[in-house]
Amino acid sequence: MFKPSSLKQQSYESVPPAGVVAYFSMEIAIDPGMPTYSGGLGMLAGDTLRSAADLGTPLVAFTLLHRKGYFRQILDADGKQTEDAQPWQIEDFCTEESPRITVTVEGRLVAVRAWRYEMVGRSGHVLPIYLLDTDLAENSAWDRGLTDHLYGGDTNYRLQQEIVLGMGGARMANALGHRVNVYHMNEGHAALLTLALLESQLGGGPLNQVTETDVEAVRRKCVFTTHTPVPAGHDRFSMEQARRILGADRTARLEGLGCCHEGLLNLTYVALRFSRYCNGVALQHGKVSREMFPEYTVHAITNGVHAPTWVSEPFAELLDENIAHWRRDNLYLRNAIEIPLGEIGRAHARSKEALLAEVASRTGLVLNPKVLTLGFARRAATYKRADLLFADPERLLAIAQAAGGLQILYAGKAHPQDEPGKALIHSVIDKAKKFSGADLRVVYLENYDWQLGATLTAGVDVWVNTPKRPYEASGTSGMKAALNGVPSLSILDGWWIEGCIEGVTGWAIEDGADDAAEAIALYEKLEKRVVPLYLESAEAWGRLMRTTIAFSGSFFNTNRMVKQYIRNAYYPLQMVEQATVREELAAQ
Ligand SMILES: *Cc1c(COP(=O)(O)O)cnc(C)c1O
Repeated sequence: MFKPSSLKQQSYESVPPAGVVAYFSMEIAIDPGMPTYSGGLGMLAGDTLRSAADLGTPLVAFTLLHRKGYFRQILDADGKQTEDAQPWQIEDFCTEESPRITVTVEGRLVAVRAWRYEMVGRSGHVLPIYLLDTDLAENSAWDRGLTDHLYGGDTNYRLQQEIVLGMGGARMANALGHRVNVYHMNEGHAALLTLALLESQLGGGPLNQVTETDVEAVRRKCVFTTHTPVPAGHDRFSMEQARRILGADRTARLEGLGCCHEGLLNLTYVALRFSRYCNGVALQHGKVSREMFPEYTVHAITNGVHAPTWVSEPFAELLDENIAHWRRDNLYLRNAIEIPLGEIGRAHARSKEALLAEVASRTGLVLNPKVLTLGFARRAATYKRADLLFADPERLLAIAQAAGGLQILYAGKAHPQDEPGKALIHSVIDKAKKFSGADLRVVYLENYDWQLGATLTAGVDVWVNTPKRPYEASGTSGMKAALNGVPSLSILDGWWIEGCIEGVTGWAIEDGADDAAEAIALYEKLEKRVVPLYLESAEAWGRLMRTTIAFSGSFFNTNRMVKQYIRNAYYPLQMVEQATVREELAAQ
């Protein structure tokens, strides 16, 4: 819409109007010392906010405090996982805000406060993150624990937490005085914020009088990102649970508005129903999501990682010397194509040395820096098939012998209630013991977290990923590796469909009819492409590392991703309006 009167006041540089984007996520990896995340979703949220802060984006974020953290993983000699709490010193990182709001949970009024963490961008922009907390004297002992455990407890606990995150967060944004233009639900966990917006739209009036116009008013403000094609990854609650915890009136209303699916309250459907823009996290995930939710338009914005966070010290020094503005604008990483090969090799050797030192200090095992080293670290979910490398141990041993040795580093936690995931860890550790020898060394590292993730992705020679198609929505650890010049060897799923340039950024494991066929495809690539290139010359390998940074690093980052969210999800109309204004001016 072109309004001549607004022409003079329009600043052509600052696109967003006054007000903020409010970003909601159940987990956010804010600081390595804060155990407020479990894995990929939280890392992505943290990297998104780090880039938004760098770009000076007017944005505020909401999450839960997770006073007791996620869990610390302990693995015994047999590969059995046990879990420890991770309490942390909140006051060391956050300051308490004064407003208090309430939410209704199971008919009880629960008071909520917020702790503020200030994320500072590279040019000094401050992006506040509010961590919601119900540990207040006026709440019952049960309610005081509602913001203790990330993904802890049963589905009752989960729904109660989601009321605090969604409805509590929306009310807290208001109480803190933020003028919110856009509410971004990072995954369906926060979808109940739309219920708070709907109730405020009705001015406290009865929910049964809601009209399509009211729904539209909420939709105009909401954006939703879905993160997984795995059905269990979408929160669903029985109608009995919904009525008991959320209330009969609200449940009936959500049901009437098409938010239930297969007789369950489905938070993904709540988010889809109330959002004007929905997206998946890679091109392929967009397609898969459109098949899952054919009644909705689902776009795609491919994930990224925060480059300055994941580039290792040696590579950061190298990039600083060679590419002036790579931190400000990650697109300049394309210019890595000019970095001398020898320097790439030396930087990688330093990262690999740091990794092997970490392995030695954790396990006492001294690995060989000259030997080809593969990395595999991710949540121990069965679809990720951590044991695919061991489908034919004899063949793996033969490849190791031909390569002059092979080292494989594993890491990853299983959710405390995920028995198949725990069995997978056990099986990998079992095989590691059985087949490790002079040629093949396999190590499973305990307690995969931010720091171990950074050390691993920078220090290995090849990053391996073996998800079962099409369940990997994106994956981001391979992007961290790429920023350090580490190529991927992966199934063509998630981001790798876009990222793989054969022999230039890594290698594809060809699709097969079943696990056995894909294991063979994995061995073939390893034997015929990866090992020969590694043995050929440092120069050939250095060239591969260099193109990996140039092609993958310059695109798969949150600097690009956040700009795409701003232009396509948060403020598409303003972008159109601005373009129109420019055209009108040009025509004068
Ligand atoms: C990057 C990261 C993840 C996510 O990586 P995926 O490739 O999606 O598995 C999970 N956990 C940690 C600790 C990470 O650093």
